[in-house]
Amino acid sequence: MECANERLQVRPEIADVEEYVPGESLDAFSARTGVPIERLIKLNSNESPYGPSPRVAAALGAFTRYNLYPDPAGTALLHTLSAYAGVDRSHLVLSNGSNELIALLWRVFLAPGDSVVTCPPTFSLYATAGTLCGAQTLSVARGPDYAVDVEAVRAALRPQTKLIVLCSPNNPTGNLVPRDDVLALLDTGRIVVVDEAYVEFAGDDALAASPIALVPEHDNLVILRTFSKWAGLAGLRLGYGVFPTWLVPHLRKLQLPFEVNLAAHIAAHETLADLPLMRARIAEVVAERERLATLLAAQPYLQVTPSRGNFILAELTHPSVSMAAFRATMEAAGILLRYYRTPDLARHVRVTVGTAAHTAALARVLDTIRKRLYTGAAHDRTPAYADQTTTQA
Ligand code: PMP
Repeated sequence: MECANERLQVRPEIADVEEYVPGESLDAFSARTGVPIERLIKLNSNESPYGPSPRVAAALGAFTRYNLYPDPAGTALLHTLSAYAGVDRSHLVLSNGSNELIALLWRVFLAPGDSVVTCPPTFSLYATAGTLCGAQTLSVARGPDYAVDVEAVRAALRPQTKLIVLCSPNNPTGNLVPRDDVLALLDTGRIVVVDEAYVEFAGDDALAASPIALVPEHDNLVILRTFSKWAGLAGLRLGYGVFPTWLVPHLRKLQLPFEVNLAAHIAAHETLADLPLMRARIAEVVAERERLATLLAAQPYLQVTPSRGNFILAELTHPSVSMAAFRATMEAAGILLRYYRTPDLARHVRVTVGTAAHTAALARVLDTIRKRLYTGAAHDRTPAYADQTTTQA
């Protein structure tokens, strides 16, 4: 949007950028559709269906010094976080959600004319954050099974390519980046960022193989993590990054003072003191993910991508099911899912893993669609579910 006063102009790279659109909130969805909030099932933002540890509310309620700024060094939290993450605290930076670290890191490295490599389909904020810096995004499409095409990434590099960003498990495809791929890309000498927002759902083998342990030996490896997903703290905003020590002071300079609020410090600290419960919840999500995957795969009009995150990507493969009609049916039932505007995912939907009750509610709606699609005789595949107007969400 432009200001009526022509003398007031924002920087062109900001004027041109397409805003990152997060999953719709319960309030916005309810206002748009008229379905009351209590009846909604929110499976569009990979949030935890269980919420935070009960220790979080107790500690936040009992705390009495909200009038004081948080400890800018985050000493108490860094101590417990360093034990949890298995890295020395000199490598850690806390942030207001891991989104903040993406924005900061991109600003540390990307000047106008520089570039960042991303491997779509992936988290779209990587590209948005680059554009905001006046940088170019070099998109290197994934290969079969959504694997990162390491050779194509190497071939795409230019002298001014500063960052390569990988997401593991990748949002929205759910697959991991093998450690060897990370090592091969570290050899390029560019900063390699591995976003592990969902790694807690990927299993002990994936956690053990995480490149996080390699950070101290590499001056160009960065790992990003968050408490938003596994810890149920998306609303309190706490992320962290594991950086080579030389990079830490530069991030700290760019980060505004007290960016991580006191409630987030307390909540993360309490979460880390309640790990057996939190791990049981993660295991529950993982078990539910497998039930959900089976259920989605049983629908003849869907094709499912196996996932190691707390979400599953499915493609509407039946030509008679339009995305618009599918979405309208889900929304009428109060189920929020993630839809995409980019052409590569125009026929895909991402479903966050919820509780068994959420899966059951989703199953009922999916069955309604299947029955409508295959009305008539068992082998008469009448396209009763086609939406003639559009095939996109
Ligand atoms: N990375 C990935 C891959 C994500 O999917 C998300 C959340 N959608 C984030 C980072 C940001 O999470 P937060 O800012 O809540 O830590």
